Amino acid sequence: MQPNGTSDQNVATKAMHPYAARVFREVSERVPWEVEFLQAVQEVFETITPVLEQTTLYEEESVLERLVEPQRVHAFRVVWHDDAGRVRVNRGWRVQFNNAIGPFKGGLRFHSSVTLSGLKFLGFEQTFKNALTGLPMGGGKGGSDFSPRGASDREIERFCHSFMTSLYRYIGAEVDVPAGDIGVGAREIGYLFGQYKRLTETFSGVLTGKGLNWGGSKLRPEATGFGLVYFAQKMLERRGEELAGKRVSVSGFGNVAWGAVKKATELGAKVVTLSGPDGYIYDPEGVSGEKIDYMLELRSSGMDVVQPYAERYGVEFHAGRRPWEVPVDVALPCAIQNELESADAERLVANGCKYVAEGANMPTTPDAVRILRQGGIVYAPGKASNAGGVGTSGLEMAQNRTNQTWTAERVDTELRRIMTDIHDMAWDAAATCGNPGDYLQGANVAGFLKVADSMVDQGSV
Ligand code: GLU
Repeated sequence: MQPNGTSDQNVATKAMHPYAARVFREVSERVPWEVEFLQAVQEVFETITPVLEQTTLYEEESVLERLVEPQRVHAFRVVWHDDAGRVRVNRGWRVQFNNAIGPFKGGLRFHSSVTLSGLKFLGFEQTFKNALTGLPMGGGKGGSDFSPRGASDREIERFCHSFMTSLYRYIGAEVDVPAGDIGVGAREIGYLFGQYKRLTETFSGVLTGKGLNWGGSKLRPEATGFGLVYFAQKMLERRGEELAGKRVSVSGFGNVAWGAVKKATELGAKVVTLSGPDGYIYDPEGVSGEKIDYMLELRSSGMDVVQPYAERYGVEFHAGRRPWEVPVDVALPCAIQNELESADAERLVANGCKYVAEGANMPTTPDAVRILRQGGIVYAPGKASNAGGVGTSGLEMAQNRTNQTWTAERVDTELRRIMTDIHDMAWDAAATCGNPGDYLQGANVAGFLKVADSMVDQGSV
């Protein structure tokens, strides 16, 4: 799925508190081309009006002006050799967004679509998401426009080593702890870690998503998808429903989708779709058993297509289409930003879908979010519902700091608790604002208060 810009980028300032509207206008004028970043800022600013109406403290302390400015952005070129011996050049970034509540923390994304604007949006979102986990982690994001698609293992190794050579001075277990994201999985984290270790002569918890033999946490690969389903379970429970027996559509087929399918299936739901940039598959029997393991094979093929699933299991493949046209009870967008647009939202509403929980970061456009909510669909934003990945990264950091290795059961129990707490925190914050059940407002308000109050406590830095 390719990210798309959104049409209603700058129109909703009316819904904002005047202070937020002014800061939003200033940012829009300063970086009008950073479309995704502005989209993320707008979404947060539109929902924190009740907080800004209650106190002028944040305005007096210029908290919003500070919140939208990354603490520091590292930009560098990444030079590497391909298998043919040619010198190749990519761009690399690390956006250290906010460290008010802990070291910068967030993934690295390797994908041809990566831009500084995209990473700023992701770092901004990460700041609130990490705050919601209740763990001491600030927000950051990084990556490169390098696409691992079609690259050989050796090329990926050389790329990762070069990337880390440019980055290693600026990260550290107590400074900034990167992890995986799209295009960065266990293999890439291994190469990045190896180079960090070689350059610094230290063995530390500088990255999360590490291998189990060398400091990684059990369940980290599954955590984002598992956490998403635990969150969805809570959403249903609150409304007296259960996940078992529900039809679920999932987009993507990578790490998040895999974990979500695994857990949803285990809990008795039926996942009927998966998707890739090439289209989606519809499996009416449900993606279960060895088909879930096959997702891993599909991913490691490096081809970034889902069609082979249809051929292998004899199910429908819809080229160039998105899975949101399939009637389901629950939709879990797990691919990439802005992959669920207005027309998709209208179809979900028309087909009687009742819940949308985001596994990806900002997969739903602002227009689509409005349509879903007006259509009566219960909607959970990624910064709440996909926080289980980074939450488990936080558990990996805790294990590294104390030289411990927790059992899978312990990690799973902690993950469930984190997701339950985020659900309840978002619920309570929304109720305080007079909008019970509004997870978007609840997550933004709860995350904002934690970060903003920490910034105020620490003075004008
Ligand atoms: N990339 C994941 C996210 O978007 C995980 C980040 C991490 O574990 O640091 O939250």
